Amino acid sequence: ASTESLREWEAQLTAEFQSYKNAGLNLDLTRGKPSGEQLSLSDAINEILAGDLSNETDTDLRNYGGLDGIPECKRLFAPVLGVNQDEVLIGGNSSLTLMYFAVLFALHQGFGELGDSWASEGGPVKFLCPVPGYDRHFSVCEHLGIEMIPVGMDDNGPLMDEVEALLKADASIKGIWCVPRFSNPSGIVYSDEVVTRIAKLGQIAGKNFRVFWDNAYAVHNLDDNAPALACLMTACRAAGTENSVYLFGSTSKITYAGAGVAFAGMSPANLKAFKHHLGMTQIGPDKINQLRHVRLLKDSNGLAAHMRQHANVLKPRFDIVLNSLQENLADTGMMQWTVPQGGYFVSVDTLPGLAKKVVAMAAEAGVKLTPAGATYPYGKDPQDCNIRIAPSVPTLDEIAKAMDVFVCCVKLASVQQKLAA
Ligand code: PMP
Repeated sequence: ASTESLREWEAQLTAEFQSYKNAGLNLDLTRGKPSGEQLSLSDAINEILAGDLSNETDTDLRNYGGLDGIPECKRLFAPVLGVNQDEVLIGGNSSLTLMYFAVLFALHQGFGELGDSWASEGGPVKFLCPVPGYDRHFSVCEHLGIEMIPVGMDDNGPLMDEVEALLKADASIKGIWCVPRFSNPSGIVYSDEVVTRIAKLGQIAGKNFRVFWDNAYAVHNLDDNAPALACLMTACRAAGTENSVYLFGSTSKITYAGAGVAFAGMSPANLKAFKHHLGMTQIGPDKINQLRHVRLLKDSNGLAAHMRQHANVLKPRFDIVLNSLQENLADTGMMQWTVPQGGYFVSVDTLPGLAKKVVAMAAEAGVKLTPAGATYPYGKDPQDCNIRIAPSVPTLDEIAKAMDVFVCCVKLASVQQKLAA
């Protein structure tokens, strides 16, 4: 386009932007949490026990004990993790807590009969971080003084040639963060080949390397035909690497984000060490809440039916975001985005150097977005292009309005960049 027509376009977009600013909007596309409508899908959980605490254990659920959870709850969630029932621990209400403890114990307490702590090796401790990724994984590393090394991803998952080369070259890399299904934020599902190669990392990495397999969106399909994820633990059994993986999940986006249950899957040897350390922090989890979850969701079929109700609420929201991107930005060269078939996010890339600017402009016009850079270790997106859109909480009208503003900001920032070049 000629400079003149770009100037004209800039003037139109600036006027549109000004009108949004004048409208005094207050919209929020930041955090991936369930909406009130979604939380209400699980409200039966509050009355479901009706005082009946009968269960398969011989402990009184009202009392202490049962550090690894009740058997019927393990049976319910073992298939979500893809591990055997004796490889499951049901914890409190947050998988992030279990992940934090897993890293902390590995760093300072060690692996029981499997070996000494990472810190005892004396050198730096590093993690591979596929990007864009989940900001709270990165904050766990920062908080515990673990150095982060970003690695790229494509539609199949982390770039495995890069991952393998890094691990071969540096034995101080002790972990990798993975969100293997409906990744946060890109929505991709790791391919079968990637899962197989990740299962084999334990063969090439240094001592006591662990894959942190955060399957937070394991059953969170938006489409019935969403791709399945290959079973990591099965691949590990074939490779003889069962001890090199920790798997995590929770019902934060199945039942109540603030009162769900979290679970971890690991080999019996890992589980033994983990339970020993966890036992220093508590005598037992809330087993009554575990029973509530079993009564509500029952089994894999019950869980799938429940998740379909979530999809019915979420899908129209994602459609508004994706249709808006498609209608307004396709073929402009100004934006690329992913089309997720599950999870909580749409990940978009602006032209290099514009993500921070777009987020700031949107904020000026009353639309809150996740800070640019949050999807990268240390908050540093080297290209300054990735933005995470989380459409679960606002109403359909609010999302539509927010997307109008967002699209306007992307266009205006891109046109201004072109004019400045
Ligand atoms: N992992 C990922 C990838 C997430 O996106 C989230 C929530 N946004 C969590 C973990 C947090 O899980 P929990 O509520 O079980 O702590």
